[in-house]
Amino acid sequence: MLVVMQEVATEAQIDAVIDRLVGMGFTVHRSTGAVHTVLGGVGPIDQFEPADFEVLDGVQECHRIMSPYKLASRSFRPQGTVVKIGKVEIGGARVVAMAGPCSVENEDQIESSAEVVAKAGASVLRAGAFKPRSSPWSFQGLGEPGLKMIRKAADRNGLLVISEVMNQTQIPLVCEYVDILQIGARNMQNYDLLKEVGKVSKPVLLKRGIAATIEELLLSAEYILSGGNYDVILCERGIRTFETYTRNTMDISAIPVVKKLSHLPMMADPSHGTGRRDSVLPMARAAVAAGADGVLIEVHPDPDRALSDGAQSLYPRQFEELMAQLRSIAPAVGRTL
Ligand code: PEP
Ligand code: MN
Repeated sequence: MLVVMQEVATEAQIDAVIDRLVGMGFTVHRSTGAVHTVLGGVGPIDQFEPADFEVLDGVQECHRIMSPYKLASRSFRPQGTVVKIGKVEIGGARVVAMAGPCSVENEDQIESSAEVVAKAGASVLRAGAFKPRSSPWSFQGLGEPGLKMIRKAADRNGLLVISEVMNQTQIPLVCEYVDILQIGARNMQNYDLLKEVGKVSKPVLLKRGIAATIEELLLSAEYILSGGNYDVILCERGIRTFETYTRNTMDISAIPVVKKLSHLPMMADPSHGTGRRDSVLPMARAAVAAGADGVLIEVHPDPDRALSDGAQSLYPRQFEELMAQLRSIAPAVGRTL
């Protein structure tokens, strides 16, 4: 359920409503918007009578939220969430580009990637140091030395860092080096991991699972939000269908659907979404046109020698072209880049 407080509601009135809900057995999450304070309660919904609460002092309106996710629902924060990290805002007017190689491989590779993506206008450097690979024989990532390298390369080029965390034990280490924690597609339903990142004070980018519905994605986000971490960014990265020409099927329609159902920023990853470098640029254009708050793109200084995901990694000049094209698409849909 949701209680929207009046614009003029006092702290005492807000506290009185919270006390009453807690007394009924609800866990209450408070969201302070520019105009209204909204209280989201999870608990015995059958006992909640909106009319009983609507007469309380300072209350404007109450809703029983029937969707299984509450805190991730658009009605919890109709104005939308903007995740702010330094000068970078995700979910605001500016479309954000996060780019870099699939994995950190060595100092030269990540350094040269950082230069390329910064020069082209990206704000965040991406690269995995812990890699979830389908085969145990494939390159698994450099671990902590890789995190050190990506941090150094990003700092030298004025970029933020996003990197994947694969399990709970890695969280403190990864948090030392990154600005945004990435939860990969394979871990979207790793509920223990979701609960743990709900307790940290770093933004989390949550990728859609390979076979997850939009509702399941939002329920996974709900795990993180319910831990108290409201800085969640969602990401469509393609789902598995019967099509084999592309690595995955990039579900562009998930972008407007999620933007309608949820207040959380929604990014698009056309690199994993298609698995083919020749399809990345058109799908990035489509994602921005469809309302994505940002793009996550794999770029490698020498894709033919990449240790992971070379076939979907752009050459540096292709990434420059992608950014140039997105710069013309963004204004057409009321955004900047
Ligand atoms: C990645 O970003 O390199 C990655 C492993 O992505 P996903 O979890 O979407 O497969
Ligand atoms: Mn990859």
